[in-house]
Amino acid sequence: MALLVQKFGGTSVGSVERIEAVAEQIISSRQQGHQVVVVVSAMAGETNRLIELAQQVDTKPSSRELDVLISTGEQVTAALLSMAIVRRGHSAISLLADQVGIETNNRFGKARIKSVDHARILEEIEQGRVVIIAGFQGRDKEKNITTLGRGGTDTTAVAVAAAIKADECQIYTDVDGVYTTDPRIEPNARRMSRVTFDEMLELASLGAKVLQIRAVEYAGIHKVRLRVLSSFSPDEGTLITYEEEKVDKPLVSGIAFNRDEAILTVTGIRESASLASDILSPIAEQGIEVDMIVQNIQRDGTVDFTFTVHRSDFDETNALLSQLIEKIGAKSVQADNNVAKISVVGVGMKSHSGVAANMFSALAAEGIKTKLISTSEIKISVVVEEKYLELCVRALHSAFGLHENV
Ligand code: ADP
Ligand code: ASP
Ligand code: MG
Repeated sequence: MALLVQKFGGTSVGSVERIEAVAEQIISSRQQGHQVVVVVSAMAGETNRLIELAQQVDTKPSSRELDVLISTGEQVTAALLSMAIVRRGHSAISLLADQVGIETNNRFGKARIKSVDHARILEEIEQGRVVIIAGFQGRDKEKNITTLGRGGTDTTAVAVAAAIKADECQIYTDVDGVYTTDPRIEPNARRMSRVTFDEMLELASLGAKVLQIRAVEYAGIHKVRLRVLSSFSPDEGTLITYEEEKVDKPLVSGIAFNRDEAILTVTGIRESASLASDILSPIAEQGIEVDMIVQNIQRDGTVDFTFTVHRSDFDETNALLSQLIEKIGAKSVQADNNVAKISVVGVGMKSHSGVAANMFSALAAEGIKTKLISTSEIKISVVVEEKYLELCVRALHSAFGLHENV
């Protein structure tokens, strides 16, 4: 008998029929002798619908009230799923984050979980109930409702698994595991039966939305055994492993991408030691996160400073830079929000050279120009025009031999 946390994402609970199917699946886990705590997302499309509703009332709604609104989607699913289980003659109870005691900080819309109280969950399990927790939500110290950022139900599931010391946290979704890249972009993508924690962390942070990055981080800190699998055709899925694998790892294990990028360049800046901080400090003060950064010295001795931000921060960053130009003695700002970032990831890269060369020849063969490059021990990222995203992912997937049948 195992203690399992099972998380079901939006598509998995996207209709009453799907909720019924998930109820059956949970009951079958129980009949195999497992104790099950379930964490659910809002029904597919519901969170977007709620955000659009808010937009109709106020284009810049209060972040506190927005969280009160968008956290309701998960409440609906939790109640419906609980009803479906009870109707089948089993015992179940739905709980909101506040009832469980999931405490977060007060950053509305992107709150971080600080603690999860295990007492109520364990009491309900003790009573023989299936516990169904509304994902994505928390409460801060002042008892305000908070939400954990898009895709945040993954993080609720991992945090609950850590708190109750579950044997495994199972993330049920609409694909049957973690693939070499998004199978919706590259149909030849291959499912990995295991992926190392470090690779999963990079893939998630670079845009593979199959797991929210914070869920992976949290799992790493608490060493939660984490598995991704399909709620449509349960199979073994993909296990995230913490041990260094003995077998030779391929140089590149996967390709991630992120469409939500924007690139900005401040040109012709007078050289000075404080140049980077003069530009980045006012941006950081607005809570805007900067990702890749490159600085080039021009022939005339001035500097061009280029960086990327999330596309939703593009307008604000552009406006801030335009105000800054005169103060820092720069010439102009060039800004482009039609770019995407593509990254190749692999722990095998650590001890091998030639990955970059292979990557750039593959891009050159397709005539794709890169706007920015950054590397770390186990990844290489490039920024390209967004229209090349699909082509770029497929070209790299093939260049690194990741296809299903090779
Ligand atoms: P859920 O609603 O269940 O949380 P998400 O839409 O958040 O599901 O995440 C699952 C999706 O992640 C898949 O449908 C797939 O398109 C996408 N995805 C991106 N990268 C990968 C990858 N490397 N492996 C599997 N799926 C991926
Ligand atoms: N419902 C939320 C979202 O759509 C949280 C989640 O599904 O993980 O982002
Ligand atoms: Mg998700």
